[in-house]
Amino acid sequence: MRIDIITCLPRLIESPFADSILKRAQAKGLVTVNIIDLRDFSTDKHKSVDDYAYGGGAGMVMMIEPIDRCLRQLKSQRTYDDIIYMSPDGERLTQSIANQLSLKQNLILLCGHYKGVDERVRQHLITREISIGDYVLSGGELAAAVVADAVIRLIPGVLSDETSALSDSFQDDLIAPPVFTRPADYHGWAVPDVLLSGHEAKIEAWRHEKALERTRERRPELLRGQ
Ligand code: SAH
Repeated sequence: MRIDIITCLPRLIESPFADSILKRAQAKGLVTVNIIDLRDFSTDKHKSVDDYAYGGGAGMVMMIEPIDRCLRQLKSQRTYDDIIYMSPDGERLTQSIANQLSLKQNLILLCGHYKGVDERVRQHLITREISIGDYVLSGGELAAAVVADAVIRLIPGVLSDETSALSDSFQDDLIAPPVFTRPADYHGWAVPDVLLSGHEAKIEAWRHEKALERTRERRPELLRGQ
């Protein structure tokens, strides 16, 4: 899979891909994350990518021209499954959207900044809009990192044990059960006996029971398939 991330502030999005699981996924060749500086597609000498809003009001708007030039160049090189604009009023990111996107070959994530992008970008140049929640960030970079992370960890082979993504919360409409590690007793706070029993079937049954219990308590709507 290839993910191209278009931003006017590349430094804001480099670090999430430079460590741990996301770094290893790239090293293993399972995903290519390409961060593109929108300013490279600006035609003016100050490399600006934004301008004042028509009609007045505070806040700059990202211009269509550099975005169009950048998208044209990318699209001339390969076919994209989706060109996604990160937007607070987009479709809300869920595990099921992450699953869908993890099956794609080539994706573009477009990050807005300031007041957002010229509306004509949204009307004509993108295929989808995704929000990471009902709050407003300063830019789309953190949101794009969230989407890319949620998607990349689902690509087969990215997590060392494939089943570990399958047992995560939301993957099967259940919240993940509690997990413990050493020591077995920490100042009197003990790990449940069953986990130390070595009895696989009992452990599995306990985990399923706890997952159900936790889902009933915290997210009952998931059990109703909502
Ligand atoms: N004026 C806009 C917000 C602009 S925030 C409005 O009121 O809707 C600047 C940029 O940050 C947006 O263009 C978008 O790319 C990104 N952004 C902000 N909040 C986001 C969210 N919750 N999910 C995804 N992207 C977001």
